[in-house]
Amino acid sequence: MGREACAFSCGVIMPELPEVETVRRGLLPLVGKRILSLELNRSNLRFPFPEDMDSISGLKIEGIDRRAKYILIRLEGDLTWLCHLGMTGRFGNEPEGKHDHVLVDFVDGTRLVYTDPRRFGIMDLFEGKFNHKLLNHLGPEPLSSDWDSDKLHSCLRGRNISIKSALLDQRIVVGIGNIYASEILFRAGISPKRKAKNISKPMCKRIHQQALIVLNTAIEAGGTTLRDGQFKNFDGNLGYFPHEFAVYDLENENCSSIDCKGLVKRIVQSGRSTFYCPKCQK
Ligand SMILES: [Zn+2]
Repeated sequence: MGREACAFSCGVIMPELPEVETVRRGLLPLVGKRILSLELNRSNLRFPFPEDMDSISGLKIEGIDRRAKYILIRLEGDLTWLCHLGMTGRFGNEPEGKHDHVLVDFVDGTRLVYTDPRRFGIMDLFEGKFNHKLLNHLGPEPLSSDWDSDKLHSCLRGRNISIKSALLDQRIVVGIGNIYASEILFRAGISPKRKAKNISKPMCKRIHQQALIVLNTAIEAGGTTLRDGQFKNFDGNLGYFPHEFAVYDLENENCSSIDCKGLVKRIVQSGRSTFYCPKCQK
């Protein structure tokens, strides 16, 4: 099965933390720019745009942060413009066509265009830094000092769900989705089917260490290209360099571990594909 065919048959493909972080970094040149005007080409994405969306006109962008998979554009007057890319959202600096839903013109003559064919993206405005209903329930950032193996272990204690499902739970740790959960568990040598309650402290240490390596490596590579044209960085070019996975989307391929003669297996957990090596991962 080719990579592209599987990307479709696997169903939902979402940008994960490294991809959103890559987009955030691509947007950093906007800091210091003043918004001249805003144009909305429809009334909603996944949810309706806020009624006061136009109030960002005239404001200067003071910073661009990220919380989980939300991009937080900080504006003058302690206002935050929250953006979630959904499945197919992307920012560019030129109009592309019928899926351009938000166009922002800056005083300096440059533009920001939000394009989203499937319209699962989210945009909202709120006062303050993190005081938003979509941010309140979120767990720790995996790359921050707020998250470590002890914290992971205490979240998994007594839980009857699989460790794969636990890693996707945004209350346990944010930003890890279907792709990176498979990659982290492969590198940690832990079966995705193992119950969360049976993950020992040393296993948590391995998961934590490998999560840092996998996520940082993907951020360095500029994210992941799953399908041509799905993600674009702010330059308007494809912003996601090809990224080699160890197990994701590699069903029936040889396991890449030295001395392992196993094949990568695909199973479905909670309706999502998981890829792993049954010989290496226990
Ligand atoms: Zn193996």
